[in-house]
Amino acid sequence: MKKVFVTKEQIEKAAEKFPTPFHIYDERGIRENAKAVNEAFSWNPGYREYFAVKANANPYLMDILRQCGCGFDCSSAPELVLSGAVLEAPEEKSPDGSRIMFSSNDTPEQEYAIAARMGAIINLDDITMVAHVENALRKMAKEDGREWDGRFPKTMSCRYNPGGVFAMSNDYMDNPGEAKYGMTHDQILQAFSMLKERGVEEFGIHAFLVSNTTSNDYYPALAGKLFELAVELQDKTGVHISFVNLSGGVGIPYRPEDKANDIRVIGEGVRRKYEEILVPAGMGDVSIYTEMGRFMMGPYGALVTKAINEKHIYKEYIGTDACAANLMRPAMYGAYHHITVLGKENAPCTHVYDVTGSLCENNDKFAVDRKLPEIEMGDYLYIHDTGAHGFSMGYNYNAKLRSAELLLQEDGSIKEIRRAETARDYFATLDGTPYYNRLDFRSLGC
Ligand SMILES: *Cc1c(COP(=O)(O)O)cnc(C)c1O
Repeated sequence: MKKVFVTKEQIEKAAEKFPTPFHIYDERGIRENAKAVNEAFSWNPGYREYFAVKANANPYLMDILRQCGCGFDCSSAPELVLSGAVLEAPEEKSPDGSRIMFSSNDTPEQEYAIAARMGAIINLDDITMVAHVENALRKMAKEDGREWDGRFPKTMSCRYNPGGVFAMSNDYMDNPGEAKYGMTHDQILQAFSMLKERGVEEFGIHAFLVSNTTSNDYYPALAGKLFELAVELQDKTGVHISFVNLSGGVGIPYRPEDKANDIRVIGEGVRRKYEEILVPAGMGDVSIYTEMGRFMMGPYGALVTKAINEKHIYKEYIGTDACAANLMRPAMYGAYHHITVLGKENAPCTHVYDVTGSLCENNDKFAVDRKLPEIEMGDYLYIHDTGAHGFSMGYNYNAKLRSAELLLQEDGSIKEIRRAETARDYFATLDGTPYYNRLDFRSLGC
């Protein structure tokens, strides 16, 4: 049975102040998991998790991870700036840009200047990006009124795509050959040489081959591949490789029958490959980095929504006050999210429902043909595992508004960490047009 981290009573009390729908997060769960992750890789002195900000860009949650020693993996200018703000916490002694990884793709040139200015580690998705970084650095120097000496940042990284099919022992596979990311083997060799010529001294390699793996073998298998590549790159180009970034992809058990990954087993599997491949090559100083999003946050968030309509046609429907704009994964990928009817945790699942949102889109269903206890109007539905790629994937289709985000703190109190969007926020980009002043905000309650 999948566990809920709040009680019906806690939700009822919270809902008096913060109307549903909302995402709620579990501080204790986030902290305990982050600690387990750090422990699993503690054999590697340079280890760092760079939390993938796209999974959940709430600064309060990012700050919890910062306190656990994490850095941040960004792929856009606003994510960089947000991460910079979180890392500027008063207790951080000196700003350390290397706690930010910039793993973008299809990157607008000017974003490299923002990353470089912050001292973030730039992870190049493609060999053509070398020229873009060059342009960005030249422009940046000009803006600052100085002559550019032609040197790139001291530390840079490149993203690798091995192509073909990536298969592991237990049926897990994906198709890197069809993925838009990373460089080919020959390109990464060439890119390393180009970067070396431009003054780069410390190199990293990165790859992300399979998403949401529920297997303890994914990271070790990927590490094996990347460690072999690291040895080859160091031999052939003479550069110093200072880190291997295993990126994201470690999955979580969305379904009750899924087996959870054991991060200790994963860490140990990576250690074995390290001892087997890197240490004999004299590369025992390489740091391991990860960029997990889902594994760090997914299970520690839930979308709480109220059943507000029921409909009996060819099927039985329960309509909620949330929609795919609050949680897109079911509509976008047909992803499974477990649902618990709060207060009915132990009731028998006697009914079969489609649980829907209100978008004028037939894929706006949180669950299809789901066996659940009988749902009454006003029941709170707890949609599990929305901590990653949940709120952050939100959008405004049908003029639906983004929900609030709440944090269940370690002392049991609930704090609002982002207010709900209002119609004023939604219409703000029309301010200055003749229509804006004619909008009847009063009837929208804002
Ligand atoms: C999405 C992404 C991640 C995080 O992936 P998860 O599956 O959430 O762990 C990490 N790195 C990059 C570059 C990504 O695009």
